[in-house]
Amino acid sequence: LAAPNDLEAFWMPFTANRHFKAHPRLIARAEGMYYTLTDGRRLIDATAGLWCCNAGHARSRIVEAIQRQAAELDFAPTFQWGHPLAFQLASRLANLFPGDLDHAFFTNSGSESVDTALKIALAYQRAIGQGTRTRLIGRERGYHGVGFGGISVGGIVKNRMYFGSLLTGVDHLPHTLDLEKNRFSRGQPEHGAELADNLERIIALHDASTIAAVIVEPVAGSIGVYPPPKGYLERLRAITEKHGILLIFDEVITAYGRLGASSAAEYFGVQPDLVTTAKGLTSGTVPMGAVMARKHVYDAIVNGEGAGPEKAIELFHGYTYSAHPLACAAALATLETYKEEGLFERAAELAPYWEERLHALRGKPNVIDIRNIGLMGAVELSARPGKPGERGYDAMLKACDKGLMIRITGDTIAMSPPLIVTREEIDQIMDRLGETLDELE
Ligand code: PMP
Repeated sequence: LAAPNDLEAFWMPFTANRHFKAHPRLIARAEGMYYTLTDGRRLIDATAGLWCCNAGHARSRIVEAIQRQAAELDFAPTFQWGHPLAFQLASRLANLFPGDLDHAFFTNSGSESVDTALKIALAYQRAIGQGTRTRLIGRERGYHGVGFGGISVGGIVKNRMYFGSLLTGVDHLPHTLDLEKNRFSRGQPEHGAELADNLERIIALHDASTIAAVIVEPVAGSIGVYPPPKGYLERLRAITEKHGILLIFDEVITAYGRLGASSAAEYFGVQPDLVTTAKGLTSGTVPMGAVMARKHVYDAIVNGEGAGPEKAIELFHGYTYSAHPLACAAALATLETYKEEGLFERAAELAPYWEERLHALRGKPNVIDIRNIGLMGAVELSARPGKPGERGYDAMLKACDKGLMIRITGDTIAMSPPLIVTREEIDQIMDRLGETLDELE
């Protein structure tokens, strides 16, 4: 274990810092579905790291691809230059995402993908002669990373309250919560599609000619797995299309198999104009994100086909490490692994069993809601009076003692296992979680 002083050297954010120091848990190794801690304990990983290691850990095809690439081409600038893997990967992604989401812009994280997509949306509106469209619309409790764009459109107030005015001209749709009616619903809830109509109200307030884009997580993940009510995303798409507003799906969690499909866009059959991704693209190995853009967006900005007065927009945007060769190699090997092992189909096949086992936890002490979609699940616990988050944190520690890694946000337990999970491992996860809940005060 690291010396106690070492624990002061690495500064982790917010309250996690204090809690972690009280109970340090250091991870030494990972393989397949399992993590091993420095004290030798072995945990089944029910969270795919941080919703990212979709192919499981230390997969040899991916490891070898990264090793080979490091020896062959460590870095290549992508301003004025390129390298073949970047184009191969972009082309693979164009095939993977539905419809004409055919153009990839590479980033290094989900937060960067979000900022990139927002800038692309604004540039697009200018390129088509709609430069007055500068307003952005997010959703209450939405999580879009920690960049200034992401916290501005994000709907978690405590994530943005210290940072001044941020992006101006941002509105937030109400969240898709209709808790009382939807409690313990399986998959997509029945109630709440009409909440999308609030978009019409925001548009009426500001005039459509001022609004550039709407950004939502198709399944709200980080705040505790809220699948969209049936019809909700379809309504958002219809309203945005009617008013010339771009629709951005933040698929940092949902892309690359989590729902048993390439993306939420494919899963729900709703075509956004831009899709942000990261995490599962490289299965958590080398940091990388990609923003997928539809043809009209790309053509307007890059080819000057937007018919606006500005013709092609001279958009300066890109990162030193955009399309980093190691990340491209990792991503190509990851996508190959998903395909060869049929992991998206496997996730779709296992989803009903996952749902059945998850919802069997209903009735356990303190459980007030259970939500699921694809291979995502959440168990919401009631908060101890005056001590929000404490019961959730205790659940995480107790689960760890039982050999289970879960993620918590407040008093909600969230799970998203690697897509290689077997039925037996789903049993293990749910048995250990069940025991954890039984023993929790
Ligand atoms: N958007 C969504 C929907 C996310 O879930 C996350 C990360 N959980 C992000 C953006 C930010 O990604 P990153 O932490 O890689 O910056």
